[in-house]
Amino acid sequence: NIPVIAIDGPTASGKGTVAHRVADKLGFHYLDSGALYRLTALTALRRGTDLRDEHALAKLAEHLPCHFAGGEILLAQENVTELIRAEEVGNTASKIAVLPTLRHALVGLQLGFRKTPGLVADGRDMGTVIFPHAPLKVFLTASVEARAQRRYKQLIDKGFSANMEDLLMDLQARDERDTHRAIAPLVPAEGAHVLDTSAMTADEAVETVLKWYAA
Ligand code: C5P
Repeated sequence: NIPVIAIDGPTASGKGTVAHRVADKLGFHYLDSGALYRLTALTALRRGTDLRDEHALAKLAEHLPCHFAGGEILLAQENVTELIRAEEVGNTASKIAVLPTLRHALVGLQLGFRKTPGLVADGRDMGTVIFPHAPLKVFLTASVEARAQRRYKQLIDKGFSANMEDLLMDLQARDERDTHRAIAPLVPAEGAHVLDTSAMTADEAVETVLKWYAA
């Protein structure tokens, strides 16, 4: 029985960083499920796929030529690690993530990441839908202001331009969509530990998750 730690939470709550470090500490595999939605979004944007055509999008998702290696994300042979972090790609990902057929098309791919010795899975529905039997489920949150600050810093560090007001509005719109969608809405899973990281460093959050896992 291969253990899974499910870490869910809203955009820019720090779950990517925390999940990654927890996986490193335990020597577990890491699933960035948001990247799968982003890769689908990027492919759709490039091909000009109609974003309401859930069957066309599901087909793209099912045949994503993606490869995860040492923190790098490849689409076919192209390194798109940075590209998929662009706001336009994230916003499109969040729009298409409301489509049931598309979500369904990504299930098998996500389950495939569960390999020995274990998996840390990061997303919105890891504990509620994809790995409901995970022995540890964490719901990571932070205030919208703290998350906008973090996103701002991330974007600037990566050489993208950013505007605080736009970021706040985008985050609120994305929270609204992710929380109120009919399928796999962003809510803490049953039995999830809730962790508010607004006033915490990433290391403190990592320590907390590891302590819960060891308990
Ligand atoms: O986590 P990240 O910001 O990369 O995810 C991009 C978008 O993909 C989210 O805004 C969300 O709408 C969607 N998503 C999802 N379910 C997941 C992971 C991401 O719906 N498990």
